[in-house]
Amino acid sequence: MLPAAVEAVAQQLVTVGNASSLHGSGRAARRVVEESREQIAGALGARPSEVVFTSGGTESDNLALQGAFRARRAADPRRTRLLVSTVEHHAVLDTVEHLVRDEGARVSWLEVDPEGRVAPEVLRAALAAEPESAALVSVMWANNEVGTIQPVAELAAVAAEFGVPFHTDAVQAAGHTPVDFAASGADLVTVSAHKLGGPVGVGALVARRDAPVVPLLFGGGQERQLRSGTVDAPGIRGFAVAVEESVRTLPEETARLVALRDRLVRGALDLGLGITVSGAYAPGDAERRLAGNVHLRVPRCDGDSLLYLLDAVGVECSTGSACQAGVPQPSHVLLAMGVPEEEARGALRLTLGHTSSEADVEAVLAALPGAVERAQRAHDATGGAGLGGARRAG
Ligand code: PLP
Repeated sequence: MLPAAVEAVAQQLVTVGNASSLHGSGRAARRVVEESREQIAGALGARPSEVVFTSGGTESDNLALQGAFRARRAADPRRTRLLVSTVEHHAVLDTVEHLVRDEGARVSWLEVDPEGRVAPEVLRAALAAEPESAALVSVMWANNEVGTIQPVAELAAVAAEFGVPFHTDAVQAAGHTPVDFAASGADLVTVSAHKLGGPVGVGALVARRDAPVVPLLFGGGQERQLRSGTVDAPGIRGFAVAVEESVRTLPEETARLVALRDRLVRGALDLGLGITVSGAYAPGDAERRLAGNVHLRVPRCDGDSLLYLLDAVGVECSTGSACQAGVPQPSHVLLAMGVPEEEARGALRLTLGHTSSEADVEAVLAALPGAVERAQRAHDATGGAGLGGARRAG
């Protein structure tokens, strides 16, 4: 968390008052919540009344997809088709799966190009194929594994041509690349505090006042009757401070992270280990890829082995693989981008943030050759299962 956000949360935690209470302490808490709402809205190009606080990205994605699907179907029973990209986070993918399995939704998967991007023509063709059935389009703003930034405004414009509401999961984008709700043309935008230096467990669905959404949670009617539950004033205060700071410092922080990212990528490619970089990568660019995202593929390697080996020397990274029945599965994002399965198994995601330094980058580059060599030996010795597979099998 950003230090200013920690301080703001701590201060509000010891302040009495439920923002829905009418007494003085309640009204003071309400003021904090409403000022925070204004601050978040201002930083994200939205109106305060468009910010609906939730418990985070997962809830906002669920509210957007389930809420819009049910609202659209209720208004017109033919509108049961969701148009969703193949590279979404599981908060979107699994919600779609639930709606298909249990609520009669249909899905048209929007394929991505080798960089992980949905072309506007792909969306247009999918909408045009059966315009009367489209309920909602959902394409994330930036990908959490490979950092690819989508042409959100162009996609939202295509959805608008067909009169179909557009949702985008901007959890990875807000505070990391310019996000302007009004200018994007989106109807619904998911954001989460802990991805931009705020606390875990709070986020928002930024929703146009006329966006067709019905609530998932019923109760006290807080948050425009769209999301009941006592509002989390400390979390919201920390969220606002983090959004304000991350958006204010975005230009300098982007330049700093791009330099670190490029040094890390160049250094990794120059190790002579056959490493490749995934997604939309060009040195100096932060328009097609998030500044802090490095995604590498290491040949003849199991990403989970690399993760354990790097972790042991103080480098914490991620692979994007999921585990099914004890067997590591390559990332759905890489497979959707057309990366062969064997290559996708050697995935390594290293993300840089506000505490990352040049020394961190040099430490990773120093640790990589030893870790790769051991992971490759394990891969060869276990016939491709790697340390992770051997461990799980044992
Ligand atoms: N969407 C994306 C793209 C994410 O990266 C994440 C978290 O990693 C989420 C949604 C879920 O957000 P939260 O952890 O706030 O529930």
